Amino acid sequence: MKVSDLWLENRREWDPVTFEGVLNPEDQELAKKLYISKYAEDDTYEWAYTKNAQYTVRSGYWVATHITLDEEDHIQPPQGSLTIKQQIWKLPITPKIKHFLWRCLSGALATTTQLRSRTIPADPICQRCCQAEETTNHLLFLCSFAQAVWRCASTQLGRQFSFSDNLEDNITLLLQRQQDQTISKLHSLTPFWIMWRLWKSRNAYLFQKINRSAGHEAIKGSQEAMEWLEVNNTQVDESQNTCQSSTHMNRSTRNSHWSPPPQGWLKCNFDSGYVTGRDFTTTGWIFRDWNGKALLSGCARLPKTHSVLEAEAFGFLHVLQMAWIKGFRNVWFECDNLELTTLINKWEDHVSIGSLLYDIRHWMMKLPLCSLAHVNREKNSAADALSRQASSIMTMSHSFITPPSPTSFRLLVVVANSNPNNATQSVATVVQQHHTRSHACSFASSVAKNVFVFLLVLTATNKVVHVTTTGRLKKAAQNVLNTSY
Ligand SMILES: [Zn+2]
Repeated sequence: MKVSDLWLENRREWDPVTFEGVLNPEDQELAKKLYISKYAEDDTYEWAYTKNAQYTVRSGYWVATHITLDEEDHIQPPQGSLTIKQQIWKLPITPKIKHFLWRCLSGALATTTQLRSRTIPADPICQRCCQAEETTNHLLFLCSFAQAVWRCASTQLGRQFSFSDNLEDNITLLLQRQQDQTISKLHSLTPFWIMWRLWKSRNAYLFQKINRSAGHEAIKGSQEAMEWLEVNNTQVDESQNTCQSSTHMNRSTRNSHWSPPPQGWLKCNFDSGYVTGRDFTTTGWIFRDWNGKALLSGCARLPKTHSVLEAEAFGFLHVLQMAWIKGFRNVWFECDNLELTTLINKWEDHVSIGSLLYDIRHWMMKLPLCSLAHVNREKNSAADALSRQASSIMTMSHSFITPPSPTSFRLLVVVANSNPNNATQSVATVVQQHHTRSHACSFASSVAKNVFVFLLVLTATNKVVHVTTTGRLKKAAQNVLNTSY
């Protein structure tokens, strides 16, 4: 460890956080009295028992005979596996991050739990999620914020990680990627910058009250890794390796089973339908929890778009707003459009959907834990099916508490606002699924005062019945809504 590791970055001033994590209170006081040179570049060892700070045998003998250390004061080797530490020192990464990793493993990172173990009063609970004690492993791998950052970075890293509750296992998992020839240098080293970023982000959050989104931190971590590796002439050739690793990834993960998010998270799959020349875009979505239970699903007709990418981006904007309205905050979004996922996760611009991306980012900032990942079409089939419904049913937007089943009545409530032609301003109201027509009608009557139009759909036959605001049934054609406003 160097003296400069205890400084605030680029400033020759002690960093109070690092300081507390490394030195005991008594030594901190002594160190604070030291004058910090403005110009000195290299660290040197100093012998404290001679005036000229040079070691002499005589002074060494004096120390050996006069200074006795109590049993307690014997310097204990720091905790953490030596093998892992040796691997860390060999990594081709910036020294500051090597030291950081060493501190993580040695229990020298000034997390609140660590401070308490040094009898420094601190609230042990993670201030970010308030769900667990802030240990090094929690902070870097298990905290919901850390999980969101790792997921946002997964596009750059070429895979998604699942971390355990053991810090050494998690760091070993990242170190093992060095041996895998199919993974590019950039992909295998970026995780260490992400860890560093998580620590910086935590300090900015706690001490400067800066709250950046998970997506922002993931991008910053990846960018810093790329810049450092480029400057240091490490081969950052992504193209060949990425190709290999993504084929590898596709082969190993290509299955049709939807997988649930980790506990405490929701997953939202969405999909949009685009047909050239059609004057509207369809989109469908489904929110499921970690047990796979569907909490909300629905579909909508959005304004006209001009490409598949624009349709998918519009769909994403719509479901972000949906998540916000419903109060869902810990959401993993999934879509089957790789181009959109890459644009979002690499923070890239696009010539024809630039302003749409701007609005998406605006909404993502409101949901700082959200992230978008790419899945194959099979895994996204529920959202695809819902999206298709939007074109067959002549409503603008609706949602279901339970996903559609082929044998029941769905009661759809469409709230028409003053400008029914503008689909984006139409607000879908979540209603219920009823198994008999009479139940559906009686519910329709009970809420009739608040809405303008009801639709009852028998999904098995796709028969649509128009109900007036009095709740009375009225036979009508499928396109009745086009004229019923
Ligand atoms: Zn946390």
